[in-house]
Amino acid sequence: MQTMTTSTPQGTQIPLAAQIVPGQPFSPLAATNAYLASLPADKKAASDAYFEGGYWINLWSVLIQIIIVLFLMRTGLSRSMRDRAERWSSRKPLQTFGYWLQFFIVLTVLTFPFTLYTDFFREHQYNLSNLTFGAWMGEQAKALALGIVLGGLVIVALYGVVRRFPTSWHMWGAAVGILFAIIGILVAPVFIVPLFNKVSPLTDARIRDPILSMARANGIQADNVFVVDASKQSKRVSANVSGLGSTMRITLNDNLLNRSSPEEIEAVMGHEMGHYVLNHVYKGVMFFTIVIVLLFAFIKWTFGGVERRWGQSWGIRGIHDTAALPVVAGLLTIFFFFTSPLLNTFTRTDEAEADMFGLNASRQPDGFAQAALQLAEYRKMNPGPIEEFLFFDHPSGRNRIYRSMVWKSEHLADYTSSQIR
Ligand SMILES: [Zn+2]
Repeated sequence: MQTMTTSTPQGTQIPLAAQIVPGQPFSPLAATNAYLASLPADKKAASDAYFEGGYWINLWSVLIQIIIVLFLMRTGLSRSMRDRAERWSSRKPLQTFGYWLQFFIVLTVLTFPFTLYTDFFREHQYNLSNLTFGAWMGEQAKALALGIVLGGLVIVALYGVVRRFPTSWHMWGAAVGILFAIIGILVAPVFIVPLFNKVSPLTDARIRDPILSMARANGIQADNVFVVDASKQSKRVSANVSGLGSTMRITLNDNLLNRSSPEEIEAVMGHEMGHYVLNHVYKGVMFFTIVIVLLFAFIKWTFGGVERRWGQSWGIRGIHDTAALPVVAGLLTIFFFFTSPLLNTFTRTDEAEADMFGLNASRQPDGFAQAALQLAEYRKMNPGPIEEFLFFDHPSGRNRIYRSMVWKSEHLADYTSSQIR
């Protein structure tokens, strides 16, 4: 399929240096630079500022969580929440849930000003959000309710394991953690996503049929592509593959559908099919199994040290004591802060694989370059290599455009003279 157009609905052109001119050499680097140069300076500045600000938000978020942990432990607030939960019920699982209920609400309230800034005001400042304040608060309330119920289930199960296996709890806990992660991946697209958004089959045959054709050509038994009404919340273009087994589905969001050319949509859907065909969800489960085992080992190792040093003054009785949950939460935060470059690299590697698959499946290098350019709204286009390694869970726009242009330069023969503009 070689449909070549030179403009998209928003009027994005294929830059001159990325067009194929008979008798002239095609330079992937020059083509990439031309694409990057087509991004207006003010948009580039906003994109850089938004994304770099995210690095600081991550750091502040870790510091705020650690301060909250110290506050809950040193003031005895955590202890008194545990004592209150023990007065509410004599049954251990209900005591655990009683503690979680108080803890999760206190945590939500204490971090609320920060969440309000990062999630509401900042998103509006960069013109990325479509939510009114009321609608945003509604979503926060839903997330709070979900956190209490689903988080409560996980916490009750994990504390049950810790009480049952006082010495080997970290191994059994990891097993339970993995089980919940798998259930989460399985049920999220079917039960969680519809709580926030409407998911419906894509009905526009002009868009759907080429996608389904590409799916068949790549061995995907799909008879539906789903659309999620993400424009309810944000202006971001996105698509994803989610679920496991029969809940596995390819979804694109309505922003992508409404703001992109058919070439861009095909390129993005080729990428999503790459995740599917390359079994990234299953490989991700394997990888996170290892991460969860390491996480539990880390908590066992570090909790012992914290308990010896501060256990008495904070009035905690051991790992089985819910009053120590803030400590465990703090250790978890530290673990994920320091392992995030590793986790980002795992994800980014999958994403790069899906990019290559998508280029081969869709044969739309310019569509993919233009889609990468659209993501400049919220992802820095041209980071340094260390910056990309540390902070990027997707290849940078520059890398994606460059890979597309290399692909194009290796397929020049496919572009017959009649299709060249
Ligand atoms: Zn992807």
